[in-house]
Amino acid sequence: MNDINKVTENKSDKNLSKELVSNSLSTINWMNKLGHFWTPTFENPTSANVVSFDGKGYGLINRWKKIAIQKGVKIIYECPVIDLIEQNNQISGVVVNYKNQNIKLFAKSIILACGSFESNSEMRAKYLGENWRNIKLRGVPHNTGEGLEMAINHGAVPYDDWSTCHASPQDYNRPNFDLPGENKSGDYWSRYAYPFSILVNQEGSRFVDEGETWRGLTYAKTGKAILEQKNQVAYQLFDSKHRRAGVLDNYKNPTVIISNNLNDLANKIKIENINKFLFNIDNFNKNISSNFYNPNILDGKSISNITPSKSNWALELNEPPFEAFPVIAGMTFCYGGLKTSKDGEVLDKNGDIINGLYAVGEMLGGLWYKNYPSGGGMMAGAVFGKKAGEKASIK
Ligand SMILES: Cc1cc2nc3c(=O)[nH]c(=O)nc-3n(C[C@H](O)[C@H](O)[C@H](O)COP(=O)(O)OP(=O)(O)OC[C@H]3O[C@@H](n4cnc5c(N)ncnc54)[C@H](O)[C@@H]3O)c2cc1C
Repeated sequence: MNDINKVTENKSDKNLSKELVSNSLSTINWMNKLGHFWTPTFENPTSANVVSFDGKGYGLINRWKKIAIQKGVKIIYECPVIDLIEQNNQISGVVVNYKNQNIKLFAKSIILACGSFESNSEMRAKYLGENWRNIKLRGVPHNTGEGLEMAINHGAVPYDDWSTCHASPQDYNRPNFDLPGENKSGDYWSRYAYPFSILVNQEGSRFVDEGETWRGLTYAKTGKAILEQKNQVAYQLFDSKHRRAGVLDNYKNPTVIISNNLNDLANKIKIENINKFLFNIDNFNKNISSNFYNPNILDGKSISNITPSKSNWALELNEPPFEAFPVIAGMTFCYGGLKTSKDGEVLDKNGDIINGLYAVGEMLGGLWYKNYPSGGGMMAGAVFGKKAGEKASIK
């Protein structure tokens, strides 16, 4: 709860975040009984996630699919929902497009779980700002905001925060999107060693506190910080001490520029003001506290008298070879969703329940603002998905 309040500047909906935190353990136990399991996270030591789903999101969805099929659930692919059916003041079905035909499917309740608008460039530009129009996606290209629009057309109310999103540092040459299964680890292109790096922009200046705290509490806002830099790119700089410390072990086949000389490295990555860049590095090196460096804890090895400061893991950049990893922002998902009850029931502008309509996952608004704690997305999806499913099933 403290993490949620801290990273969202106390703007997370109090009722929803309390519901999320207080139901997370029971939801995990329920999922575990159904066959899901968790494994220790041995990846980047600053992730702050002690455990992860076995197989990550890909493993999770494969297990859910198996469980659903065992329980007789029918799954239809290539069958987008294009509208909701409203009868007698009640949402009673959906219209789907299947093999080029519009078909009506009826049900006692409809639970929408079709993501936010992260894959829709027009909506991104409209709600997040023009510089988000052409951003690369970390996820699928299918979450185009249709679910949100359909629900809003039937009386649902947008709920914050539609102007911010989750975006993290990604390899400069990552593809435009990822389909589940193509790349079994969703973090293949992620470049999450930045807390240990000196992160500079094209002009040769630092622009964030790279080591503010655990990576899991800063990565979702770092994409935006990179997007705001010139050419929408930044460079994570490391030297051989970082290599030896193992903080780069997760970078598999990354885009990287290497040199034994900082001046040459700056030339190779086309830093615009090389003198300023060299001064910045020298100044950084001279202002590091004497704390013991330890990438596995918040070591307090910081820099002073420099803005922005670096609160942890400040190491001198002085031992070649030097490595520069160019990074861009990758969009994970948008925080904008719909106003719902604690059970995922969609509410109208008067705060009344729209009968028969639920929204869960990214579609449930109000939880995240500007930033997000790692693991919150799937946990929120699981907690409110379970609650909505239980409520819908007793109708
Ligand atoms: C690369 C990556 C790594 C992540 N890592 C983590 C992590 O480690 N921990 C964590 O907690 N969260 C993580 N997340 C976030 C997490 O995956 C999301 O918060 C979560 O998947 C949201 O669930 P959802 O059901 O709302 O949307 P999704 O899982 O995106 O599912 C939405 C589905 O709806 C479908 N759809 C969209 N429109 C329609 C339509 N009109 N009709 C029918 N279907 C439609 C889409 O095709 C998609 O299959 C990660 C996300 C990405 C992209």
